[in-house]
Amino acid sequence: MKNYKLLTPGPLTTTETVKKEMMFDHCTWDDDYKKITLSIIDDLLELAHVDKEKYTAILMQGSGTFGVESVLTSVIGEDDCLLICANGAYGKRMAEIAQHAKITYKMYLQDFDKISDAKVVEELLQENPQITHVSIVHSETTSGILNDIEAVAKVVKAYGKTLIVDAMSSFGGVDIEVEKLGIDFIISSANKCIQGVPGFSFIICNREKLMQSKGKARSLSLDLYEQWETMSKDGKWRFTSPTHVVLAFAQAIKELKAEGGIVARNKRYSENNRILIEEMAKLGIKPYIESTHQGPIITTFYYPENSNFDFAEMYQYIKDRGYAIYPGKVTDAQTFRIGTIGEIYPEDMYKLSSIMTDFLNSKK
Ligand SMILES: *Cc1c(COP(=O)(O)O)cnc(C)c1O
Repeated sequence: MKNYKLLTPGPLTTTETVKKEMMFDHCTWDDDYKKITLSIIDDLLELAHVDKEKYTAILMQGSGTFGVESVLTSVIGEDDCLLICANGAYGKRMAEIAQHAKITYKMYLQDFDKISDAKVVEELLQENPQITHVSIVHSETTSGILNDIEAVAKVVKAYGKTLIVDAMSSFGGVDIEVEKLGIDFIISSANKCIQGVPGFSFIICNREKLMQSKGKARSLSLDLYEQWETMSKDGKWRFTSPTHVVLAFAQAIKELKAEGGIVARNKRYSENNRILIEEMAKLGIKPYIESTHQGPIITTFYYPENSNFDFAEMYQYIKDRGYAIYPGKVTDAQTFRIGTIGEIYPEDMYKLSSIMTDFLNSKK
């Protein structure tokens, strides 16, 4: 089988040492294993810059969406109303979750190439006093745009509402002062910037808000409070734990620390991103998001202005030479995406650029 590196924003390319951890079939009720879960929780709280008395972390089986669904369906009660700030597919997915769970919600839908505007959030909160919770995506992986969660958090806190942030593709790659911003629930998953493998999501929660959610969950397996109740005692998971994924994740956290923490990782990702955009510009390929709001995680590019450009053909050409890229996901333009997270370095960006140069030259 031919190997390739992933330039997709999760699952992403992990290190050999992270993958190697999965060669052991760990017992789930064993104390050593439960300690690993507890130490992951501790590490996550540190990465989020929160006081452990005020915040707690919960691991939840499944992909990232399971984590988002767990929060929305567990903490928003029957008399509550959620304001969803959406400027991409992941924001819209929150509305789908709300529909399925019959959660009352209001949608603030922004163009995919613009950030959610804190002023509009404020107007909506003024006009709709029934709103109790506000949710927003930090790094909208649909386009690569980085929303200004600081500005939105300020407004949401000024109005005394509960703030839920989907930081799936940014947590661990962009430093987030969770407590300082007043974020009540922040969600990410194992296979994004911490650089683990897929299998669980994690949620950092304001303890007081979590306690208030007791008994509100609409789902048994995604009940956030119940998951915490069991896990916080001694690190035992409520239902079968993804043991191999947990071991890999513990190793991935060690490697994040060894790299120099989130600040160092952010620097590497940003450098990857900067080089990528610079190299693409040389090929006449332009980013979809303006540089002021472009995040370091993933970049959406317009198709090159060449009438016979075929994405599927370029994808195959690049894959045969060692990299997998991503098709576009915005609805209003012909685009493709390149992720810059995972075990990826500037040299990979230069290699990719050279492969794409060869491809485009072969089409002339
Ligand atoms: C990856 C991602 C998710 C979760 O997607 P899954 O496929 O369920 O893992 C949610 N939100 C954002 C912004 C993401 O990047």
